[in-house]
Amino acid sequence: MINELGLQRRGLMLVLSSPSGAGKTTIAREILSRDQSIEMSVSATTRRKRPGEVSGVDYHFVKKTEFNIMRNNGAFLESAKVFDHYYGTPSEPVMNALTNGTDILFDIDWQGTQQLVEKAPDDVVSVFILPPSHSELERRLYSRAQDPSDIVAKRMAKAAAELSHYAEYDYVFINNHLGESIVNIMAILAAERLKRRRMIGLSAFVKRLCEGG
Ligand code: 5GP
Repeated sequence: MINELGLQRRGLMLVLSSPSGAGKTTIAREILSRDQSIEMSVSATTRRKRPGEVSGVDYHFVKKTEFNIMRNNGAFLESAKVFDHYYGTPSEPVMNALTNGTDILFDIDWQGTQQLVEKAPDDVVSVFILPPSHSELERRLYSRAQDPSDIVAKRMAKAAAELSHYAEYDYVFINNHLGESIVNIMAILAAERLKRRRMIGLSAFVKRLCEGG
């Protein structure tokens, strides 16, 4: 949307990644509740719905055949297999939002982040969230207890693999105190929104400043 100064900001993609249990979901919820200009990207997944999850809000829960059709039709901006299930980001809502100047928040893994960076390097702002310690990560995973313990154990084993990708991200912080993490993420968002390249109509605006009119 063009504002009264003739300027428009292109939306950005704020990507959060972390091993399961680092607190990413809580941080994502806090961002959405504090900022009306950012929306969550709702992924499609072939995994089963967990208690409390809502179709179309947490995920689009789809059968594997449906997922494959979507992928083959190019409906995904990125897709990946994570913990034996398939996940993908529907492209259309994201592209529309960016054009309209709305920011999009992603909770996706390192594979998806790499694909987004490849497709839209100027739009992606990637943030990796680290847990404060191994023992705290383990505690958070077990206290969640939504999955059978064998899956939790598998996720613990995979945490190290996810962690090894932290250096591919623009920003990294340790989620030790939630309040501090929220301050960090809102600061990143505020600064990234001011990036010159996201501002459409800026050169015309500066020209008018110089020449009058
Ligand atoms: P969960 O099944 O616990 O909700 O998510 C498992 C993992 O899949 C998390 O690390 C999450 O970030 C990742 N994930 C969720 N949606 C997507 C997606 O659309 N694409 C990719 N690449 N990863 C996703």
